[in-house]
Amino acid sequence: MSTLQSQKPKRTVTVIPGDGVGPECIRAAQRLVEAAGASVVWEECEAGAGVFRKGIASGVPQETIESIRRTRVVLKGPLETPVGYGEKSANVTLRKLFETYGNIRPVRELPGVTTPYSGRGIDLVVVRENVEDLYAGIEHMQTPGVAQCLKLISAKGCEKIVRLAFELARAEGRKRVHCATKSNIMKLTEGQLKRTFEQVSREYPDIEAQHIIIDNCAHQLVKRPEQFDVIVTTNMNGDIISDLTSALIGGLGFAPSANIGNEVAIFEAVHGSAPKYAGKNVINPTAVILSAVLMLRHLGEFEAAACIEHAILVTLEEGKVRTGDVVGYDRGATTTAYTEAVLANLGRKSERYRVRDYKPIRLPQVSTEPAVVRPHKRRVVGVDVFVEATLTPEALGRGLETLVSDLPVKLKMVSNRGTKVYPPTGAITDCVDHWRCRFVLRDEAGELGDALIFQLLQRIATQYRWMHIEKLQEFDDIRGFTMAQGED
Ligand code: NAP
Repeated sequence: MSTLQSQKPKRTVTVIPGDGVGPECIRAAQRLVEAAGASVVWEECEAGAGVFRKGIASGVPQETIESIRRTRVVLKGPLETPVGYGEKSANVTLRKLFETYGNIRPVRELPGVTTPYSGRGIDLVVVRENVEDLYAGIEHMQTPGVAQCLKLISAKGCEKIVRLAFELARAEGRKRVHCATKSNIMKLTEGQLKRTFEQVSREYPDIEAQHIIIDNCAHQLVKRPEQFDVIVTTNMNGDIISDLTSALIGGLGFAPSANIGNEVAIFEAVHGSAPKYAGKNVINPTAVILSAVLMLRHLGEFEAAACIEHAILVTLEEGKVRTGDVVGYDRGATTTAYTEAVLANLGRKSERYRVRDYKPIRLPQVSTEPAVVRPHKRRVVGVDVFVEATLTPEALGRGLETLVSDLPVKLKMVSNRGTKVYPPTGAITDCVDHWRCRFVLRDEAGELGDALIFQLLQRIATQYRWMHIEKLQEFDDIRGFTMAQGED
């Protein structure tokens, strides 16, 4: 490689070999990074199954956390959470600890990897929000038979991920960003991403911006995937569609990813530890190698990154050495033989497959203040009290009405699993023992203070078991809560 590169100061990267097939793939990626002349030195650290077994409940030891704090760049193998150890995944812990809010998952059609989509030129990136949404993992059993998971979506989180998607599009010379949400149903949470996208997109007039409902996005991805360039979406949607997109180009063996934060970036394959292949030297290391390519671009090592990407393209194009996931495990090359072939092709360029001209991504600078949205006025207009009961809707509704008849609040409605059941609407609802009881002020212009909420709760507690409440708030006269199905 060029003398210029070898004279560059070395950048230290924390490397976590991980579990299962992780060490085999990571070793392959390290060999290529070194051979491509990148100015990188490794600091090897532990995380995952072995760490859980040592009794460290997070799966990530303090030395690993300190190494990442120092180096700020991680190349990581997949991590397992063994059954019976720890409650939280070590992967999620790492993403959360270092606020890597953006998960970038590129896929492109590769030569010699035949799929039903071959020849259509798939080349897209899923930009998945990585820390919020249902994956915050805030769950509570509401009654013995009803579970709840909180879906938290912040304006700040949306702004960061949307800006990252547009900046990525610019850095990679891409022309279109789709925002995929379920805002037609979840108007406040998924709707927040859609609204932010519509606002932020005005600052990127050079890039076409389009909203798409996530279920249609899944449909379109299967039908006409070549129409997509960048797709930005919430955490769970992104998790699902990015597995789908990796299948479009030949499977998890070819799907890299980057977890991007403003301070730390973690690079890893989309796939897990594939335990059945662990230690057999048969796994396809391309996804991890391409993750290292993303890492090199993050470090500004564009030349080394392009060199490795070309070597992979040439190796696949020639098709002499292919792994078992492509040609069948009875005929596939070993992981080491494939890696040797890619190493031997360093310096060669694919003639048919282009490597993009990448520029550094300008990471979004969004305020670190806790509140980025400040309304001029706000008002509490009511409260939803969630109650456990095995009564009929009528018995519960009438009972609550009687109970609060002398208070300044009245029962507006009771809903069960989101559908209004009291006052009766005629809807056929299979009720469970978890009821949302909506109370509003009798004086519609008033403000519901905490003292009255406490009085209401105390009153309800005399006859019913309640498990949580939600204040019904308006911000700048805009309703900050949704109506139940059937409520008006
Ligand atoms: P997985 O490890 O991704 O493996 C599922 C299947 O995908 C494999 O059986 C294999 O398919 C294929 N595959 C995965 N990697 C491949 C590669 N490099 N080359 C070729 N084919 C590959 O998913 P899993 O079995 O659900 O999860 C195993 C463990 O990994 C779990 O403990 C899970 O929690 C963990 N995990 C970790 C991460 C992470 O660290 N980021 C991500 C996902 C899962 P065939 O069987 O068809 O050959």
